[in-house]
Amino acid sequence: MTTATWLGRPVEGVLFDLDDTLFDHRGAADRGVRAWLSGLELDGLLEDHVERWATLEAFHHERFQRREISHADQRRARIRAFLPGWDLADDALADDTFAGYLACYRAAWSAFADASVALERALGAGLAVGILTNGEQRIQETKVQRTTLASYDVPVFASSSLPAAKPDARAFHHACAAIGAEPASVVMVGDSLRHDVRGAHGAGLAGVLIDRVGRYRPDEVAGVTRIRSLADLRWAS
Ligand SMILES: [Mg+2]
Repeated sequence: MTTATWLGRPVEGVLFDLDDTLFDHRGAADRGVRAWLSGLELDGLLEDHVERWATLEAFHHERFQRREISHADQRRARIRAFLPGWDLADDALADDTFAGYLACYRAAWSAFADASVALERALGAGLAVGILTNGEQRIQETKVQRTTLASYDVPVFASSSLPAAKPDARAFHHACAAIGAEPASVVMVGDSLRHDVRGAHGAGLAGVLIDRVGRYRPDEVAGVTRIRSLADLRWAS
């Protein structure tokens, strides 16, 4: 039995968010969209297109997470809104065009260097470890398999395979049961204050905010445990 603790609390397990926690989604999306846009020859400033793409991604992916539209349809909605002058009414044409972005995005996939440190420490401390992510199961597993995260053999619990997405408590409870740990003895680590940290608290887990770039103001995270690097996660015993 493990004697690991986090802030004085006994810990049996840790759940990591994937995108922008272990996996550098934002970096890959940014590098990917720039590579893709360089071939599209759109009018206007590159930076404006990059920002518009990010806004559309956040908006439509959130709709997918709320189960308003399918994963395929959120991609189509994004590409149609991003290229309003293009004839993308046909799903196959929209999918083909989106595939151009996807190829550039996938070529840029990488995990954060401190992800390996965090996973090695958690596994070394005898903790049950899982990845709890809002996304499509197959895609999220592919991100793990194609990066340095693959060598840790950590199970992936993606919202498409769960009763609900984070911040719904059911997502956390399902993942805790799957790794064999009580919610009260599990720490959730993620970059989203709402999805990962507040969601974890609502489900009875401890929550840790990974905020690499100071995205949140101090008043927004009052009372929240915030770290700047996954290397800051240390399991006392
Ligand atoms: Mg995330």
